[in-house]
Amino acid sequence: MTTSEHSDLTRRTAAELADALAAGETSSQEVTRAHLDRIGEVDGAVHAFLHVDAEGALAQAAAADRRRAAGKAASPLDGVPIAVKDVMTTAGLPTTCGSKILEGWVPPYDATVVARLRAAGLPILGKTNMDEFAMGSSTEHSAYGPTHNPWDLDRIPGGSGGGSAAAVAAFEAPLAIGTDTGGSIRQPGAVTGTVGVKPTYGGVSRYGLVALANSLDQAGPVTRTVLDAALLHEVIGGHDPRDSTSIDQPLPDLVAAARQGATGDLSGVRIGVVEELGGKGYQAGVLDRFRESVDLMVGAGAEVVEVSCPHFVHALATYYLILPAEASSNLAKFDAMRYGLRVVPEDIENPSAEDVMRATRDAGFGDEVKRRIILGTYALSSGYYDAYYGQAQKVRTLIARDFEAAFERADVLVSPTAPTTAFRLGEKLDDPLAMYLNDLATIPANLAGVPGISVPSGLADEDGLPTGLQVLAPATADERVYRVGAAVETLLRDVWGGPLLDRAPDLATSGAR
Ligand code: GLN
Repeated sequence: MTTSEHSDLTRRTAAELADALAAGETSSQEVTRAHLDRIGEVDGAVHAFLHVDAEGALAQAAAADRRRAAGKAASPLDGVPIAVKDVMTTAGLPTTCGSKILEGWVPPYDATVVARLRAAGLPILGKTNMDEFAMGSSTEHSAYGPTHNPWDLDRIPGGSGGGSAAAVAAFEAPLAIGTDTGGSIRQPGAVTGTVGVKPTYGGVSRYGLVALANSLDQAGPVTRTVLDAALLHEVIGGHDPRDSTSIDQPLPDLVAAARQGATGDLSGVRIGVVEELGGKGYQAGVLDRFRESVDLMVGAGAEVVEVSCPHFVHALATYYLILPAEASSNLAKFDAMRYGLRVVPEDIENPSAEDVMRATRDAGFGDEVKRRIILGTYALSSGYYDAYYGQAQKVRTLIARDFEAAFERADVLVSPTAPTTAFRLGEKLDDPLAMYLNDLATIPANLAGVPGISVPSGLADEDGLPTGLQVLAPATADERVYRVGAAVETLLRDVWGGPLLDRAPDLATSGAR
């Protein structure tokens, strides 16, 4: 196969690849090889992957081709390759969570999401880079070095799932899995010009997802189009008896909603613009593109209402009590005894189990992880529990009530996904608060468990970098984010004369290697 046929395959959406596979125009092995070649070509510069499994992916592709040939496709996406964030356990493949403490750990079992990908026939290309234990907004907290934004290699790809977003934006994978605890699917989507969905809490199984904060974590699709996200969501979503918080009801028809939205018609849809998510702290170009996308929705027949969610201003503070509290107890299991790194201190004669634990955790965890363990342990400690953790839980309820009230007046809520476009590597690394502020607009959805999507909304004037529109819906009404997201995608494509990612620099020819 020639290079240009190869690049043609990597440029196609997952839905287009699925159609070509169904029509017998290409094979999963060709498609998978094209993406592996692309990874070989550009990932030295992007560093989206921590581990590439060429052999495994090609074997799964061969099996997909045999199923297609026999007329027994396992799913609509059978044979379409995918990348998986390194926070999901994968049997036989390393899972590090971006941390030294799990270096070399090979889990003995698949996460439910991964098992469903395998059962649906999606070859797994490899594991993607992330901030250590999913703490961060830039992927710079990865113990294995940062991922670079394909739009500008000197800039961050967002985080914590910057590897998944960058892999998809750089055409290294048509699809990826991310996880979103405070914005780690949506914010990387916004700053890389890709689509990211955080499903309703409980809509996708958390079994085998290494927990950051159990009450907030949710896995979801990272893609280049809204339809692709819907196709993937239908593969990974739905009830799982192994996750006690999994919702025991059928998923809505997400693909149908995406197709309906793609007609670009939003008649009768009430769009709520959230007063508290925008304005101060948001970059001018981000707000310009946001207002334009609201205008496009109005032009497509939507009705716009202004809504106020007064407790959203406390969302960040609430999150940074609840998240560290849950994270600090989750991370207690890295005790040097059961798995991963084990450092035996050399300067202590007959070191105790505690000495080994201390030395291991000191060497194995990075600064951001240590910071949050300290914050969380403090917030949970006796005498402070009610004042911090207990109080945060109350505010969390108030935030959920703000959503309920807003959804009485609007079918979906919209805002910019992230306050700024991609910033430069290193720019916010020494300022934790500046880093935390990236998730100002995404965190409320995690606290309330509602679904959200980020779709590209254009390029900011001041730097020519992508920015995203966030669409939020009530819990279990995920179909609404697909309908509205797909409509915006269609309308925006007319404005920009095609997909936004066509405007990103071509890494293969720009000497990025
Ligand atoms: N950036 C947020 C944090 O650092 C969100 C992380 C996430 O969603 N995994 O906690």
